[in-house]
Amino acid sequence: MRSSSSAAAEIEHYARALRAPRIGDAFRRLGDQARSAGWSYEEYLAAVLSREVSEREASGAALRIKAARFPGHKTLEDFNFDAQPSADRTLIAHLGTSTFVDEAKNVALLGPPGTGKTHLAVALGVQAANHGHRVLFDTATGWVARLQEAHSRGKLAGELTKLRRYSVLIVDEVGYIPFDQDAANLFFQLVASRYEHASLILTSNLTFGRWGEVFGDQTVAAAMIDRIVHHADVLSLKGASYRMKSHQPTADTA
Ligand code: ADP
Ligand code: MG
Repeated sequence: MRSSSSAAAEIEHYARALRAPRIGDAFRRLGDQARSAGWSYEEYLAAVLSREVSEREASGAALRIKAARFPGHKTLEDFNFDAQPSADRTLIAHLGTSTFVDEAKNVALLGPPGTGKTHLAVALGVQAANHGHRVLFDTATGWVARLQEAHSRGKLAGELTKLRRYSVLIVDEVGYIPFDQDAANLFFQLVASRYEHASLILTSNLTFGRWGEVFGDQTVAAAMIDRIVHHADVLSLKGASYRMKSHQPTADTA
């Protein structure tokens, strides 16, 4: 029978060969736990493997969150639903499971400034990244600039294909700045290329009825909205700006 120290050295060797460093870190401690708790061999192996997998997933999620270029880290946990009664808690909790991403469905968050649209869009993006999806954030004008740049190099189709590798694109602030005709057409192509393939999360301070003003053309706007809302959840947020209110306990109340 091999000695436990040579078995330990072998495990360390195999953990390195498998590029599974957490196995090398965890197997001794879990072995002690297994002996004292009387785990079966299978239970012990499952515990060791699950440590590797869960830590890989956690570091993968952290990388995906970093790569998403969110403007700040916002989560569903730090969204105060009491301060925003027009946000449907049940629906948002469901969106937080990211099943809409598997179904290539969209989410539109509409409402006046400061009602939590960007916060919720980022929080849903964070959830998607945690669930293993690639996510990329930009403003509507940022997306158009990116597509314009690709278009000028004759690489628009390739860029749209590349973007389809992201399960979720967040398009923040549709409507703050009106688009000229070229920009509107590029944005339309983005929406069309994702339709029934991959998700968009959009935020806008304008109701869909006023998107014609953004795109300078009711027909383009209608065709776009049609593709967005065909498979989508639309959340209309209301109320005063959260930025104007003081929700935090302040020094004078402490
Ligand atoms: P919008 O995109 O609708 O203009 P934001 O999502 O940027 O608004 O919200 C403005 C600020 O207020 C952000 O810092 C956001 O985190 C915060 N905020 C807005 N609504 C809430 C809320 N219900 N709970 C917690 N923070 C909120
Ligand atoms: Mg915003």
